[in-house]
Amino acid sequence: MVKAIVGACWGDEGKGKITDLLAEDADIVIRFQGGSNAGHTIINDYGKFALHQMPSGVFNPHTVNIIGTGVAFNVPYFMKELTYLKEHGLTDPKILISDRVQLMMPYHIAFDTYEEERLSDKKFGSTKSGIAPFYADKYAKRGIQICDLFYEDVLKERIQAACDYKNVLLANLYHEPLLDAKAIYEEVLSYRDLVAPYVVNTVEYLHQALKEGKTILLEGQLGALKDPDHGIYPMTTSSSTLAGFAAVGAGIPPHAIEKVYTVAKAYSSAVGSGAFVSEIFGDEAQQLRLRGGDAGEFGATTGRPRRMGWFDCVATRYGCMLQGATDVAFTAIDVLGYLDEIPVCVGYEIDGKMTKEFPVTPLLEKAKPVLEKLPGWKEDIRGIKEYEDLPENAKRYVDFIEQQIGYPITIVSNGPKRSEILRRTPKI
Ligand code: GDP
Repeated sequence: MVKAIVGACWGDEGKGKITDLLAEDADIVIRFQGGSNAGHTIINDYGKFALHQMPSGVFNPHTVNIIGTGVAFNVPYFMKELTYLKEHGLTDPKILISDRVQLMMPYHIAFDTYEEERLSDKKFGSTKSGIAPFYADKYAKRGIQICDLFYEDVLKERIQAACDYKNVLLANLYHEPLLDAKAIYEEVLSYRDLVAPYVVNTVEYLHQALKEGKTILLEGQLGALKDPDHGIYPMTTSSSTLAGFAAVGAGIPPHAIEKVYTVAKAYSSAVGSGAFVSEIFGDEAQQLRLRGGDAGEFGATTGRPRRMGWFDCVATRYGCMLQGATDVAFTAIDVLGYLDEIPVCVGYEIDGKMTKEFPVTPLLEKAKPVLEKLPGWKEDIRGIKEYEDLPENAKRYVDFIEQQIGYPITIVSNGPKRSEILRRTPKI
């Protein structure tokens, strides 16, 4: 059985928690895209962890954790995470790294910074983790695969070729110091011994696991609206965040994916620039921000305050459609317990016309939220163990959203801990 866990909207929906939960009975957890630019927060018996590149199955001693080929793999960062986990009681997490995954190079991070500086007030609000330059190089066929570390001549030649190209840009566009191919080669070669114990042909491994009927989780990063094809382009990330891509980024057949758990949060948050139709500001936003997540809505990697908004049915319906949601996991509903009334964005008004279809970016910039208010429940619902025991208005909120988005909500999360989870029978 293969399950994908992906985000419905902008990311930070609580995928880490749902993966951690579903990883309990998973044999394998795979990261299939993205890099160290986003983070999952996981709170379990070992403590609280912000995972960036590490698959969320590392907390289960029997689970094998795979870095899939679609990942932007930052070796020093990964080693730091591994050391951190070991220092916190995880003696020997099982890890495999695809032999075809590409390496985040030191110059990718530098170019990310230079480009944001060059763009000045038109910048994307990048986390400067090198993601866009990494994927640009990958698709322009200038990337370095991890297997190249084991073939020194190939590595040397590929680094030289990349540096020759980049030095033209550094000299003429960015006016920054040039790259020294030899120094980079030596630095990158030093990764080899660190990763050698983990690098295998993960495709063969996974196909064998599929034959044996193993349970496999595909762990996505960010959300559908950050997908470069279908998201809010160009305010997207640089690798596909969709469950459809999980098959590619992991290296399994697309028809093997049976379940697509699409995680949606009971309110909205976003990072970086770009249109955010249901956004709220000032005091109203700050109240929600401070109560949100497990310790306020601040980036797990960057610490940046997240932009806040009401639940957006238009965006979430679109996100669930793109993901092919078989199940919606609806998280952080406990956060809304302070509100008398809860606004929900049920449509967009664009040039005086109401729509429920998620528009292309130039139109999205013009969209105004059409809000409907639902009655709040005004109590703390953390600690409730059965869905049926939730206050009536909380259940009404979930029913309403399920109707609006048109996809079945089967999991409701009422707190950041692994145990704070309610199973729900969908009504659609
Ligand atoms: P991810 O990248 O999708 O895993 O999301 P993040 O981990 O960045 O953000 C989700 C935040 O919400 C984290 O702080 C989680 O601990 C927290 N969280 C997850 N589920 C719940 C929930 O049901 N209630 C509350 N209050 N916080 C939650």
